[in-house]
Amino acid sequence: MHAGGMTRPRRPVAQIVPPYLLRHLATTTEPIAEFARATLTRDHRYRHNRATATATGAGGHRSAMATPAAEAPSRRISDAANAQHLPGRTVRDEGAPATGDAAVDEAYDGFGATWKLYKDVYGRNSIDGSGLRLLGTVHYGEGYQNAFWNGTRMVFGDGDGEIFGRFTASLDVIGHELTHGVVEHTAALTYSGQSGALNESIADVFGVLVKQYSLGQDAAAADWLIGGDLLLPGVKGVALRSMLHPGTAYDDPRLGKDPQPDSMSGYVETTDDNGGVHYNSGIPNRAFALAATTIGGPAWEKAGRVWYDVLTGGKLKAGADFAAFAQLTITAAAARFGADSPEAAGIRDGWTAVGVSAGSTTTVPSGKPPVDTEAELLLRRTGGFAGIPRQRQAKLAELPARDRRTWQGLLADDLLPRLAAESSPRPDAFAYCVTCIAVELDVEVAEPDLPLRLRRLFERTLSGQ
Ligand SMILES: [Zn+2]
Repeated sequence: MHAGGMTRPRRPVAQIVPPYLLRHLATTTEPIAEFARATLTRDHRYRHNRATATATGAGGHRSAMATPAAEAPSRRISDAANAQHLPGRTVRDEGAPATGDAAVDEAYDGFGATWKLYKDVYGRNSIDGSGLRLLGTVHYGEGYQNAFWNGTRMVFGDGDGEIFGRFTASLDVIGHELTHGVVEHTAALTYSGQSGALNESIADVFGVLVKQYSLGQDAAAADWLIGGDLLLPGVKGVALRSMLHPGTAYDDPRLGKDPQPDSMSGYVETTDDNGGVHYNSGIPNRAFALAATTIGGPAWEKAGRVWYDVLTGGKLKAGADFAAFAQLTITAAAARFGADSPEAAGIRDGWTAVGVSAGSTTTVPSGKPPVDTEAELLLRRTGGFAGIPRQRQAKLAELPARDRRTWQGLLADDLLPRLAAESSPRPDAFAYCVTCIAVELDVEVAEPDLPLRLRRLFERTLSGQ
């Protein structure tokens, strides 16, 4: 396998129902299975179309993104009439009365509630902070089991009518999808691996805060469920995700069992689901829910404020991992409430409880055993202005003890494939190729895309130090 450092990955569309769940449904009984297969196909086609539109700069939606001057929400809800064409026919504009169509009115009200949390509590005027119009399309497709944010608008399916009801029914789902827009306009967390799971988690955090704020509900009184109103009667489950108790949201013959881990000991290593973004988001979700319930009172005031500070503070990098994010929340809590405050302590304890060591420079414990020291490593450095390659082939056992252990962990981890997937060739820059047959690893990463500690490791290994 070659994880290919040459092409940038397609920018995935953030969606509320993870692909693994749809794939599971696709193997169950008709007509649910057929709806699931159709949703998967449409999601795939949609992502492809979007990638093409982005690449060519073709936008058809831009005229609808006009910025209103006043600090009030500006909403427009369209109806796709069960077709798959966006945006569909406009059915409710800002200020217009309720239509009587539940999906239209829930989307309109949900957009309003989301706008209100961001404005009232955090002083943010819409997704982009400058009054961006909130666009939504309802009745998308037939039996469509999903809701997603496509970078411009929120799109809601009606559900299949047996497992999933209409996707506008859960206010937290609406808040979740619009928050993907906020993330895109702020930290722009890369939608894969740990940064992708943080992107998902932040969408759940503010999604659930929209619901709690709207209900005037304290952290202690909240259910901390995402998508609780989507599941129809008969489904063995309470929601799509539980932030306080990840892994317990459902256990149903048709849906399978909620696969979310509730701490780093259960961290899921996978190439599925953009590197497990909907699985591992359970870990930071629980850190937030624990911090908020420990601190007490309304979650949007303290823990939510700290998360918002980090999201918009400019220090959160697009490729941040859990440990870096955790450290930023602790620093932000200390800055806002004091280093010895109950808020800072509650947040620190939340991360500790889920096994994330704030600010540690180590990568995830992959759960896999370290690679055997008899494994053969081939490290090649190519490119560079002079174009002279260097390489070293060695058994891990031949390396100095400290670097040997680092290599053993690195080859077992998914860090290199992830860096390779996000890396692109740079003029005159070195490129490192790492090959290890024992773990079927063969990747190429441009030197500027490598963290400093890996550059140093590679240099020492090449020079035989
Ligand atoms: Zn999402």
